[in-house]
Amino acid sequence: MNTTSLQTPIEYLKGVGSNRGEVLRKELNIHTYQDLLYHFPHRYIDKTQYYKINQIQPNSSDIQIIGKITHLKTVGESRGKRLVADFVDDTGKIELVWFRGQKYFRESLKINVPYVIFGKANWYGQNISIAHPDMELLTLHEKSLKVAMQPIYPSTEMLSKKGITNKVMVNMMSQLFVEQKIAVAETLPNYILEHYKLISKNEALFQIHFPQSANKLALAEFRLKFEELFYIQLQLLLKNQIRKQKIKGYVFENVGDYTHKFYNEVLPFDLTNAQKKVLKEIRNDLGNGAQMNRLLQGDVGSGKTIVAFMTCLLALDNQMQTCIMAPTEILATQHYNSLYAFAEKLNLKIALLTGSTKTKERKEIHESLENGSLDILVGTHAVLEDKVQFKNLGLAIIDEQHRFGVAQRAKLWKKNAIPPHILVMTATPIPRTLAMSLYGDLDISVIDELPPGRKSVKTVHRRDGNRLKVFRFIKDEIKKGRQVYIVYPLIQESEKLDYKDLMDGYESIAREFPTPEYQISIVHGKMKAADKDYEMNRFVKGETQIMVATTVIEVGVNVPNASVMIIESAERFGLSQLHQLRGRVGRGAEQSYCILMTGYKLSEDSITRIQTMTSTSDGFEIAEVDLKLRGPGDLMGTQQSGILNLRIADILKDNQLLQAARAFAKNILSEDSKLELPKNQILKRNYILLTKDKKKWQYIS
Ligand code: ADP
Ligand code: MG
Repeated sequence: MNTTSLQTPIEYLKGVGSNRGEVLRKELNIHTYQDLLYHFPHRYIDKTQYYKINQIQPNSSDIQIIGKITHLKTVGESRGKRLVADFVDDTGKIELVWFRGQKYFRESLKINVPYVIFGKANWYGQNISIAHPDMELLTLHEKSLKVAMQPIYPSTEMLSKKGITNKVMVNMMSQLFVEQKIAVAETLPNYILEHYKLISKNEALFQIHFPQSANKLALAEFRLKFEELFYIQLQLLLKNQIRKQKIKGYVFENVGDYTHKFYNEVLPFDLTNAQKKVLKEIRNDLGNGAQMNRLLQGDVGSGKTIVAFMTCLLALDNQMQTCIMAPTEILATQHYNSLYAFAEKLNLKIALLTGSTKTKERKEIHESLENGSLDILVGTHAVLEDKVQFKNLGLAIIDEQHRFGVAQRAKLWKKNAIPPHILVMTATPIPRTLAMSLYGDLDISVIDELPPGRKSVKTVHRRDGNRLKVFRFIKDEIKKGRQVYIVYPLIQESEKLDYKDLMDGYESIAREFPTPEYQISIVHGKMKAADKDYEMNRFVKGETQIMVATTVIEVGVNVPNASVMIIESAERFGLSQLHQLRGRVGRGAEQSYCILMTGYKLSEDSITRIQTMTSTSDGFEIAEVDLKLRGPGDLMGTQQSGILNLRIADILKDNQLLQAARAFAKNILSEDSKLELPKNQILKRNYILLTKDKKKWQYIS
């Protein structure tokens, strides 16, 4: 491999120069020959076919024709001015049209000389024209690098404005391969190449830019996709392995009095099989000497809280403190309240620490944490403050992790000489296969079963015109003693507008549901925490029947008596958000309802979201649809995992290949966990390159 030439600055390539170099750097982040090499086409056009003019059909898309220009003329005035050529073959005539660069084309196009042209045919009545076709003299075409599939490179407005057309891009690539004879070292060991029948790296890179046939292109894509996914998985698995080897964790051997007493005397129901399975997995982690780093996925209402609490008990059985963190004050408070009752029965000391905890109380909490008399601390981000020090923190539980970043997890680690075990809980279901590739460095448990006796929430879609009927329905439910949520969207960019919507909505609801017969709570992001809590608590205690709120209630709030969830402007919510909101009801014994209110004009995606909501309550199914609608970009964690920087593989479409790559990487590590065998040296070298320099990641994968 000729490394120096791969690192050559892009402007040295013939046909680039400093101006184009600048554009390439800015627009495509292409700095070197190597960067260019890894700038892959995003689609291809079949170039094996030549059309005769009389074969062109309306809607023939991209067509290639051999023929001659017989006549060139400029027509039209000022802005409508254009250059028009008559182009003929032995079957007919079409027009070629140029709006831009007329002078250049007028001077350079040759009359009565065979060209190969390529472009999109437009029909005007019986006439066919092609605007700005790719033109190549037949003699040059015959000499040029033959491709079966014409590569089309991703472009930007700036690129085409600066004249870096697809053709220019292709020319640059052929400079690389033909003139510079660029060569890249193999990045996978022979045994993998043989096992998957992969073509060499060099061949793959050539074929991806200059496919000689559809089949060779497919082989090239397969090779490059496999490699990309394989190295990501290898990296994730190694990271996980290193963590397990290096990071010692407390060993919680004893299942002691707290656990026994809770299980036998306090726990108000039987655990579901899924809960038992997950507890077993956690218990395993806590007993094996390595630090636990586990993600617990479970749909809303699947009973994660009990699992969390029983995990705490295991730590407490082993004389360690625990903390539980939630993303919002409301949620932390609710966790605190629901666990308080349990803790009391077990004689455990539990405290709540949030931004609004009073100084005096805060001081007491700090002290009792430090002297070890406090057993369980529940709180918000406030728990992470440096002043908060534990005597012996053994376990940290993080609820709804998408609001806590990796940095914050790291902060927790530092609270102890030995990092505490960490359990992350999320109700955002991610298809399991995807989760594994996103969180290869976490272990994953799934509660895939709801507690028995749950009635699924009846979900319907209603337009604004049905509002009165909806109000009547609400009144009926309240008469039965139930409570109702009415939720408004809150999107950052239009915060003011949303606030107005919420307040308008609140006023009309207040008119429709007058005091003293009806009591209404209102909770939104602009309120002080204390006011929020006050309002929320009134609803939790049943003093108010209606809760008007923005999405602050989305996460985790638990009011079993609430049986109706009205979502206003439902078209503005994402699927996972809708699912989360719906999860606020259906928590008690009563039949619950979710009503999605929308206007009349809905986008296709909105319709899909609403139909999905009305047809299923399976969080994983919903997550799949969500993924298809939005792509993985919005999923939590994708930013951190690097999975989005995929160059060629597609995490959804290539999921099976991803599984295979992961399994293969796993096998390799189980035989040679440190990549010490000679046959794996090539893997080790590339792995080190990847981890040493994040930027190089892209080159390898
Ligand atoms: P989530 O997973 O959304 O956090 P919770 O832990 O809040 O769910 O549980 C939802 C409700 O289900 C709570 O009221 C809880 O007491 C109840 N619950 C949890 N596990 C069981 C079970 N095994 N049997 C019956 N009810 C349960
Ligand atoms: Mg919960």
